[in-house]
Amino acid sequence: MSAVPLKNDKPVEAGVRTVTVLGATGSIGDSTMDLLRGARGRYRVEALTANSNVEGLVKLAREFDARFVAVADASRFDELKNALAGTGIECGVGESAIIEAASRPADWLMAAVSGAAGLKPALAAVDRGTTIALANKECLVCAGDFFMQRAAKAGACILPADSEHNALFQALSSGNRDELTRVIITASGGPFRTWAAADIENATLAQALKHPNWSMGRKITIDSASMMNKGLEVIEAACLFALEPEEIDVLVHPQSIVHGMVEFSDRSVVAQLGTPDMRTPIAHCLGWPERIAGPAVKLDLASIGQLTFEAPDFARFPALRLAYDALRTGQGATTVYNAANEIAVAAFIAEKIRFGAIARLVEATMNGWVRAGNLAPLASADDAIAVDHNARNMAASLLPQIAAKAS
Ligand code: NAD
Ligand code: MG
Repeated sequence: MSAVPLKNDKPVEAGVRTVTVLGATGSIGDSTMDLLRGARGRYRVEALTANSNVEGLVKLAREFDARFVAVADASRFDELKNALAGTGIECGVGESAIIEAASRPADWLMAAVSGAAGLKPALAAVDRGTTIALANKECLVCAGDFFMQRAAKAGACILPADSEHNALFQALSSGNRDELTRVIITASGGPFRTWAAADIENATLAQALKHPNWSMGRKITIDSASMMNKGLEVIEAACLFALEPEEIDVLVHPQSIVHGMVEFSDRSVVAQLGTPDMRTPIAHCLGWPERIAGPAVKLDLASIGQLTFEAPDFARFPALRLAYDALRTGQGATTVYNAANEIAVAAFIAEKIRFGAIARLVEATMNGWVRAGNLAPLASADDAIAVDHNARNMAASLLPQIAAKAS
């Protein structure tokens, strides 16, 4: 039994839906709050969370009259409490408060924390057996199959919010799971799609942060430039839909209009299209099993004129190849892939390593992990968190030699 519903056959719930948004102050959080703002009478906000942006969180909490808010940064408690004085809004700080926010009763939860830090809170929501719109791909990549197994066991409903996976989710409902032969996720190719390898190697932070089509948080924007994001998404697709690596193809599509396609046994390929605006897949998750009005610009294919596609270049973008390697290796290798990347991206932002060294650090950490005989199945959240922690340490210890080495 899959935790991702394969048909829109869930009965429509009448009345006001309660919602919680983890990562409410981020880019996905912002798009989610925008949709909630546009449909006031339909939703009531239970809880909102952020890492350290107290000001942004308090503004949202007051606007939406949230019942509970939490910030991960424990040093901000007084600031948060004072800012909410007299509102009746409860608040908390630290990881436990983020988990509390996820545990409180809400019919629908958006998981939009950035990075593996979102795993424990997402699992707290999973254990309630609720409906979760999952944007936080790293938590899925970190926990692997275990996340989806736990969701299925708890009766949680996982709605893929990432645009490519949401496209697959929509396309999948036109056939049966055993009729699926392949999925294709598209990639814009990022800002370095046409760059030579030597130029990619030395790309600056400002260049990596200039995404051609999507406006997103910093980490995912850098991941898009390295194509690590697509690598994470290949693993995400494998986990969400129980696919083998051979059943997942990546296609570079610079216009970002076709987001994902599903091929069925009769060779029909069903695609989902839309202008690149995250509010469309989020609206699909928010309205599901119905459709609600979305605010994105209407797709005008005549004015776009041409949609183009190319095969990904695994040599210039080794991060994508490494994702397939991690998926084939299994046994915590995807956790290592994600953990090493989080360390590498932070080091690149801090100007400690060159852009090209991001994938090299991930590869060195994965190889070191396998050589040390650390591969083992993940049976619990604690297993995943331990592998994540140890892989971060290994990546941090490999960092100086990777930083010193020329390409
Ligand atoms: P962002 O950096 O803009 O926002 C992240 C949110 O998480 C913020 O509210 C931040 O306060 C919170 N946060 C960060 N670290 C935290 C921690 N340690 N504990 C608790 N809260 C923490 O990121 P984003 O672009 O909105 O991305 C969020 C997630 O959605 C990521 O997993 C990303 O890969 C995924 N995603 C994003 C997009 C996009 O268009 N932005 C598209 C698809 C998937
Ligand atoms: Mg995506």
